[in-house]
Amino acid sequence: MSPDPKARDPRFDILFQPVQIGPKTAPNRFFQVPHCNGGGYRDPSAVIEMRRTKAEGGWGVIFTEQVEIHPSSEISPFIELRLWEDRDLPALTRMAEAMKSHGALAGIELAYSGINGPNLYSREVPRAVSGGPILTFTADPVQARSLDREDIRDLRRWFRTAFLRSQRAGYDIVCLYGAHGFGIFQHFLSRATNRRSDEYGGSLENRARFLAEVIEEGREATRGEVAISLRLSLDEPGPSGFSNTELRDLIAMHATLPDLWDLAHGTWADCSATSRFADEGAQEDLVRGIRALTPRPVVGVGRFTSADAMVRQVREGILDFIGAARPSIADPFLPKKIAEGRFDDIRECIGCNICVSGDMTQTISRCTQNTAFMEEWRKGWHPERVRAKGASSSVLIVGAGPAGLEAARVLGKRGYGVTLAEAGTTLGGRVTAERALPGLAAWGRVADYRIGQIAPLANVAVYRESRLGLADILEIGADQVCIATGADWRRDVVARHHLAPIPLDPAMPLFTPDDLMAGRLPEGGHVVIYDDDHYYMGSVLAELLLAKGCRVTILTPAVRVAEWTINTLEQGRIQRRLMERGAVLALSAAPEAIGPDRVRTRCIWTGEGREIACDAVVLVTSRSPRDGLWHDLAATDWRGAGIRGIRLIGDAAAPAPIAWATYAGRRYAEEMDAPDPGPDRGDALPFRREIADLAPPG
Ligand code: ADP
Ligand code: SF4
Repeated sequence: MSPDPKARDPRFDILFQPVQIGPKTAPNRFFQVPHCNGGGYRDPSAVIEMRRTKAEGGWGVIFTEQVEIHPSSEISPFIELRLWEDRDLPALTRMAEAMKSHGALAGIELAYSGINGPNLYSREVPRAVSGGPILTFTADPVQARSLDREDIRDLRRWFRTAFLRSQRAGYDIVCLYGAHGFGIFQHFLSRATNRRSDEYGGSLENRARFLAEVIEEGREATRGEVAISLRLSLDEPGPSGFSNTELRDLIAMHATLPDLWDLAHGTWADCSATSRFADEGAQEDLVRGIRALTPRPVVGVGRFTSADAMVRQVREGILDFIGAARPSIADPFLPKKIAEGRFDDIRECIGCNICVSGDMTQTISRCTQNTAFMEEWRKGWHPERVRAKGASSSVLIVGAGPAGLEAARVLGKRGYGVTLAEAGTTLGGRVTAERALPGLAAWGRVADYRIGQIAPLANVAVYRESRLGLADILEIGADQVCIATGADWRRDVVARHHLAPIPLDPAMPLFTPDDLMAGRLPEGGHVVIYDDDHYYMGSVLAELLLAKGCRVTILTPAVRVAEWTINTLEQGRIQRRLMERGAVLALSAAPEAIGPDRVRTRCIWTGEGREIACDAVVLVTSRSPRDGLWHDLAATDWRGAGIRGIRLIGDAAAPAPIAWATYAGRRYAEEMDAPDPGPDRGDALPFRREIADLAPPG
């Protein structure tokens, strides 16, 4: 499966060495750790094709997301995979086949969620190591009962059955999930969730008893033919959490118990920290030295995209395998590109966690960088390949933000003659400005990757400092015209809470995010940031202003700052950082009027009024599409000018996160010259969808 080793820089050979995992051999050290995708059991074919692209891209080990082994523990509404009965096997078998299609080992992660499973769907009484309220993101008002001896026997049998089913489905590695606070194995190990006084509680040896039993029974059931890995938390937070010291004690105590140790930091939010809060390889200190405690290989993650960083981790004996979830989502061909020395083609993860938000919102995940992610089956898109060119020959794209750049990249690769006109001096649109904000530097990769991909294409002409008007567009006379002119932040309060403007006194200095990003800042003093956007912008601007010495109050109708970032696992960190840096939080309130030197606010619950004296107000509310040019074009006789089609995409159509813009660019480019849908355009489903078989009546 390895690409031609002759093409490889010998420096990276170490990454392509085969590594033994118990009875199996991984062809290289690239290890796609389990990751969710928001599709799970609802969209099995979409998930299967997504995993197949990783196989094609050269990963040596490819895992499923968590697979629930029994209905007495499930985490609905979150959508993962299930292995509850033999009827679940066909999808999981096809998944294993896809994973192995290019020589990788196929892995399945078995999960029993215990104290994390509210069982909203199965309605079974949740069972946990020690009973108590279910610990979920949604604070479901449900408690679990403690496992009794018989339950533990049942649970061991269910794991044994799951091992056998996994083997039947063709998996090479079974991973037992005990990381992120989510899996029963961690619940047993942690004194925070294991308060038992029997032989499964108390000493570390006792707390490790269950996992030792399950591994031994799994190994015996599968006759030692399946490799077994254990996914554990590197450092559970809290005074009685399963600490890094205890983890090391456990590994020393049971050094050869699993065939591989798969180590992941703390909570999911710790482990999948965004680039705003953690750098590449951030878990190094927690994992360093563990390798010396065990003869078994160790895998760890760290949003690795740099081949040099990967090589160093292996050479220094920190890791045997380079674990990756997000880097493998952003670029399923990462191993192959390293093998072929195509470093400029690597599509680096930007660490935004939009992919995670797909799982958190129980929708299908998307990726800001890899626009084909989870569309491999639904739309037939591929992270590397594009369709052949159609009948049109020339395309004019107006605006080189994420939408315009992605459209130009894909159309260019398809072979169209592309003209990309950008009003500004640099390409990248909103990303050019946002990458300069505190913590958002990695977001620049959205532009850098696309600019790098377009540069060698002779059929793509890029014009900077070229603000086009209607006359220019008609004069250029391209076959197709795409308007991707972006959006501007509104200079009033209209967003979600206020659907209409409120009185704004012209004497109050008002700023928008666009002003701040362009370097027009308040002069100091006390600044109120009104955030009715609820994503990252308000909090990032607060950091910027605090660093400039301003006093900052964040006013928001939400009950917490940056509320939507719960979905990107950042909210807790954002709120903590702002509070630690001295921002004042005025929550659950909205402005009623903005006077010359104060903001009058009203509590959204009680209506109680308050005044906040301030020197300036920053409005982080909503964005207005820059669609004037589009309307002018649509209203003119563009067909008469020889143009065959026009389209409005990205923020200029409907402002949204960057991932929506890159997706819009991809979609425009993919649909160019697609068969004419005819007068019923829009009636047909624009993607493939799976519908569960209807059971026979009765
Ligand atoms: P999106 O996220 O949809 O890609 P952005 O706001 O990031 O939108 O990018 C839009 C880009 O379009 C900006 O770089 C902006 O300078 C550019 N632009 C806007 N109007 C014009 C125009 N008339 N001609 C050329 N470029 C334009
Ligand atoms: Fe990385 Fe963002 Fe893509 Fe997730 S969505 S893989 S964090 S670029």
